[in-house]
Amino acid sequence: MLPLDPGNVLCGLEGCIRVHELSHIEDIKKKNKNICKGKKKGMRVVASPDERPATEIKAANAEIECLKALLTNNCGDYCKKIIEARIKEEEEYRDEFK
Ligand SMILES: [Zn+2]
Repeated sequence: MLPLDPGNVLCGLEGCIRVHELSHIEDIKKKNKNICKGKKKGMRVVASPDERPATEIKAANAEIECLKALLTNNCGDYCKKIIEARIKEEEEYRDEFK
């Protein structure tokens, strides 16, 4: 699933993907390191191996929280499926770092 998939835009997932990225930016500002170096198309960042798990887990949790809030907006079955798929994907992504 790509960030600019029409379903993602229609269902508001872009906003939550942005929450994920903003979480990284927050961490970058705190640590003053460029963990976004080498990143492509707004989905993944490259951090040093010791700090990447923490920042990815934090960012994924922020995105999942945002997605779950989206689900409560009663956006219909089409969006519900897309949002739930994205939550599952993001949970799996997060758990890779645990
Ligand atoms: Zn990330």
